[in-house]
Amino acid sequence: MGRRLSLWPLVLVLGLLAPASAQPLATASARESESLTGPRSALQKNWIGLRSLPAATEILVMAGHADSQGIAGSGTAGAAVALAGLAPMQPGITDELYWNLALAQAVVARGQLRGLNIRYYEPPLRTIHHQDDPRTNWSVGQRHVRSGGYALEIHLDAYGSSGIGSGVIPALRGPFTRVDESLAAAFGAYPMGFRGGLGGPRRGVTLLEIGKLEGALEASLRDPSRREAAIAFIADRVALALAAGLDQPLVSPPPRGVGSVPPGRDRPASSGGG
Ligand SMILES: [Zn+2]
Repeated sequence: MGRRLSLWPLVLVLGLLAPASAQPLATASARESESLTGPRSALQKNWIGLRSLPAATEILVMAGHADSQGIAGSGTAGAAVALAGLAPMQPGITDELYWNLALAQAVVARGQLRGLNIRYYEPPLRTIHHQDDPRTNWSVGQRHVRSGGYALEIHLDAYGSSGIGSGVIPALRGPFTRVDESLAAAFGAYPMGFRGGLGGPRRGVTLLEIGKLEGALEASLRDPSRREAAIAFIADRVALALAAGLDQPLVSPPPRGVGSVPPGRDRPASSGGG
């Protein structure tokens, strides 16, 4: 409902106008990705992220449910534990949190390799009863966003019919960002204000559902011989989407040789001013 829906025809037209040569590659890459992470959210994307963020924006990455174990909102147990009766990956925490922690840290590591200004936060306790405690993911994320940063919380969706699929749930503070738009292109999207506006998005924290914790995704993560590659593959997709959603740096790295200082970045116009 609402005026944002009227933007859809524009999006469709822009999609049709995309260069034909870009299509096969994008489609193949999307198929390869989805064979690991499963179906995308089929819910309607009723928002468009147009707000640009500077290339140097500090990105804070967190693992969903890292502060809510043993209480409501501890995350999904995953199909392997809940349906097949396998042991949890680690006693005392949900399998979702176990993988969220691994994925969030991998996103930060891969992002740093790509030159992103990106860091990781993990709460000091696994159970924090009050959402607004200053140590929770959402409180730290909210402060980070208020000071000009971008905050992302990594999740895995529920298995079976209660899960929806991969996709970004955009931050609701301030106009939607191009970074969230870029994540939507890579992973799919949920409607804005999903479930009445979840606690994270209402505080300015974007949530990313990597995929449902079942099937090929869960099997790849649980298989020690495939785990590392699966985590790296997913983390790279996230880091690439984050990088693509930020404004490009004004200068590229020095192409070659010594002393090739790109003009006009460090000093606005002249070095004379104070
Ligand atoms: Zn979750």
